[in-house]
Amino acid sequence: SRDVKGFLKRNWVLIATIISVILGIGLGVLVREYASLSQLDKQYFGFPGEILMRMLKLVILPLIVSSMITGVAALDSEVSGKIGLYAVVYYFSTTIIAVILGIILVTTIKPGVSQTADNIDRAGTTPNVTTVDTLLDLIRNMFPENLVQACFQQYKTQRKEIEPSVSNSTNTVTTTTFPPFTTIMTTIAQNLTKDYTIVGAYSDGINVLGLIVFCVAFGLVIGKMGERGRILLEFFDALNEATMRLVQIIMCYMPVGILFLIAAKIIEVDDWDIFRKMGMYMVTVLSGLAIHAIVFLPLIYFILVRKNPYSFALGMAQALVTALMISSSSATLPVTFRCAEENNRVDKRITRFVLPVGATINMDGTALYEAVAAIFIAQLNGLDLDVGQIVTISITATVASIGAAGVPNAGLVTMVIVLTAVGLPASDVTLIVAVDWLIDRFRTMINVLGDAYGAGIVQKLSKRELERMDLTSDVDVANP
Ligand code: ASP
Repeated sequence: SRDVKGFLKRNWVLIATIISVILGIGLGVLVREYASLSQLDKQYFGFPGEILMRMLKLVILPLIVSSMITGVAALDSEVSGKIGLYAVVYYFSTTIIAVILGIILVTTIKPGVSQTADNIDRAGTTPNVTTVDTLLDLIRNMFPENLVQACFQQYKTQRKEIEPSVSNSTNTVTTTTFPPFTTIMTTIAQNLTKDYTIVGAYSDGINVLGLIVFCVAFGLVIGKMGERGRILLEFFDALNEATMRLVQIIMCYMPVGILFLIAAKIIEVDDWDIFRKMGMYMVTVLSGLAIHAIVFLPLIYFILVRKNPYSFALGMAQALVTALMISSSSATLPVTFRCAEENNRVDKRITRFVLPVGATINMDGTALYEAVAAIFIAQLNGLDLDVGQIVTISITATVASIGAAGVPNAGLVTMVIVLTAVGLPASDVTLIVAVDWLIDRFRTMINVLGDAYGAGIVQKLSKRELERMDLTSDVDVANP
């Protein structure tokens, strides 16, 4: 019984979170059945969940900055270069695998062949985003022109203003104060997703990519500064520890927040019938995600690390449940850190370096979804795609997943570039909007799982470099 007690003590947050998911679903169903809430009441209902989201997002900034800077500065540049290379190769190859898996599934199951686009309601909007714009924005974002601005702006672009062709009276965010591209993104996101709970995820975001690039450069410089750099390094290291302690406190609140988050969602969704209509599409995406998570990623982990991949995944359980509940890899990041470091004992020098980057650019789930959805839409339109178009979809789906920010429904927005690349009407993205809130959760979960396995794999691959560093360096900031 001491074992049981120990287990409960170590995993109480996870257990409480899982219980609160179940309770939240139950509560949601009950309220739906027996209470008639006004639109406003529904919003109030999700309030405790909103607070959880705010707390998680709050720690992203100090967490990313402190972990990236110390992560890079604590390694010598040769080692960090190697680790970076391993990480990028891993990100890229697993994303491609996910895309190919998606394409194979959607072309065999053919979820869109038996029906036509006319049978499914469109949400009625024509977003306008092209591949070039997305790529340019991605690169622009890597070089923020203002550090302070980068901390509270998701998208900043030089692109000329394009009036969004949609207007929706139920908009809750004033879009006029944000730069053009943000305006478009916000408007699209809100119109596409009527039942979008986390209001303003696009507008109050952080330019994570820009900060990462800056912090890598800053960390490299600090690492080379010798004695003088030590002060800064110690400062950011202490900041990192303090932030992680805050995360620990936030996690105690997590079960409460999640209970209301999921309950509010269930109360809010008004069209459950859509799941019957879109059944095969959902089955295709979800089974692809499942195969990637249960077969491919674990297999790669096992081949490279030679340890049980499923106990590794189990160690990540809290992060996976969180991702499933909040649909955001960046907001899950604090929890991902904790699970990888505490449960799976991944070296802090690795997690600090690899996890923030992974949460931003490595999205296997999103890539798989983009490919499946694009081909599904082609099938709905009765279009036969040739090999060239399939290749185009693979490439653009990969780009779209890298370009998608780690916030809810981001993949839906970048979906537009995949569609336009093969000549499908961008407005057809509205065909898949109604079910996106559900799919988003699952693909986010796979995104996070992919990042976590990546940290484990990169740690194994860099073992020799890390050991050599342990021998030569007198101080070890990351692991004192
Ligand atoms: N919500 C996803 C994430 O945060 C991105 C997406 O929409 O695919 O990872």
